[in-house]
Amino acid sequence: MDLNRVVIVGASLAGLRAAETLRNEGFDGEVVIVGAEQHRPYDRPPLSKKLLAGEWEPDRIHLRQPDSFDELDVEWRFGLAAAGLDTDARVLHLTDGTDLAFDGCIIATGAACRRLPEQSRFGHVHEVRTLDDSMRLRSEIAEGGRHVVVIGAGFIGLEVAATAKQLGNEVTVLEGGPAPLMRGLGAEMGAAIGSLHEARGVTLRCGVSVDRLHDDGVLLAGGELIEADVVVVGIGVVPATAWLGDSGLQIRDGVVCDETLNALDADGTTVTGVYAAGDVLRWPNPLFDEEMRVEHWTNAAEQGAAAAKNLLAANGRSAEAPQAYAPVPFFWSDQFDIRVQFLGRVHEDDEVAVVLGSTEPGEDGVAKFMALYRSGDRVHGALGVNAPRWVMKMRGQLMEQASWDDALAHAATLA
Ligand code: FAD
Ligand code: NAP
Repeated sequence: MDLNRVVIVGASLAGLRAAETLRNEGFDGEVVIVGAEQHRPYDRPPLSKKLLAGEWEPDRIHLRQPDSFDELDVEWRFGLAAAGLDTDARVLHLTDGTDLAFDGCIIATGAACRRLPEQSRFGHVHEVRTLDDSMRLRSEIAEGGRHVVVIGAGFIGLEVAATAKQLGNEVTVLEGGPAPLMRGLGAEMGAAIGSLHEARGVTLRCGVSVDRLHDDGVLLAGGELIEADVVVVGIGVVPATAWLGDSGLQIRDGVVCDETLNALDADGTTVTGVYAAGDVLRWPNPLFDEEMRVEHWTNAAEQGAAAAKNLLAANGRSAEAPQAYAPVPFFWSDQFDIRVQFLGRVHEDDEVAVVLGSTEPGEDGVAKFMALYRSGDRVHGALGVNAPRWVMKMRGQLMEQASWDDALAHAATLA
């Protein structure tokens, strides 16, 4: 099949990196990007940090310099959403009633915030996913002196809590689970990060159940009202796949793909010419022998590039055959003066050991440590808190799935 027109759905990090890669690899056909937001691709990490804090303005968060967009020779369709995908006819249906034919399609629609019942009814209740969300919340907390209640102690919850506290607001975080950051770091290390927040004046209440939002704040199960001027809901995301309902693609908490990021149909057969990348995608990572969906920046950027390369390779536009996407996942998170970095995977029943530094703050009030995660005899995760040099030097061990003893011996050489 000739590859003349590639349509990318989603004009954010994964979609932009896919378009850049198509061009870098010499693809000279048409590239169309359809994006539901009105904005050109921008970076989301600052939305809960420097942009929310007012330290940066929106013109600092472009993913590509505004004057370099034309170089990509891409047709941008902003403010327009995909409504359906016909993989037999190779047509994308758009919400304005028009259709877009394609030879290749890369799905990069990311994820949307999970919401609490009736959330949109309350003017003082916020979420943080888009530039517009962040600017709206910023205008509420910029002056300080407000009581901000954050529901969910995941990444959004703790980053927003840190920013709001640094702006001089009183901050309470409500978490359903026994510790913060359980999904990202596991209970033990999540609790260690939680203590660092408490030491900086954030009130953290874990194991509480939110009954419902209330005009005056948040009502807990049991009847306690937590009063708030501003409420931020950070209770996770759902992959943006609703528009793919009739597509015949396999959807299971994300678009299910093979190792090369090629989308699968309901029978598990690859769908020619349809790839996915970023938060929306679930794929089997051969390095970890595990199917995963990763909701972090580095993965979205690298998957966008990998999906584009594999689409070209599968169509004979490259000397190489399609490659399995087999990374060691990585993320970072900045909260107060705490830089969290994580390489690898966390599982619920992991054993964790702090191998360098200490979770106790030093004389300067800042903790610096590295912890390793294991199940069985193998290391599969490394967490660094204010320890970038240590954690990044564990990458080789994680690539090799080194034994626990080898990982400990290697860590000891980093001290
Ligand atoms: P998204 O960035 O979600 O983009 C998907 C795009 O597709 C959106 O613009 C959406 O409007 C559009 N879209 C959706 N449906 C349709 C449709 N039907 N038709 C057309 N367009 C559609 N990661 C880190 O590693 N470190 C961090 O510090 C960090 N901080 C973050 C802070 C915040 C506030 C947020 C929200 C995320 C943060 N992340 C961080 C995660 C990282 O930003 C995401 O993993 C990344 O943005 C995912 O990129 P994506 O392109 O897959 O999806
Ligand atoms: P998240 O990391 O999945 O955390 C959501 C948290 O909310 C979990 O701890 C969850 O606990 C809890 N929760 C769920 N329902 C709740 C309820 N009703 N009441 C109280 N707590 C509840 O998601 P997020 O923090 O909302 O972040 C959204 C997305 O942005 C994610 O994709 C995240 O990866 C991304 N992001 C990443 C970064 C980063 O990498 N630095 C920064 C910001 C955002 P349970 O797990 O027990 O349900």
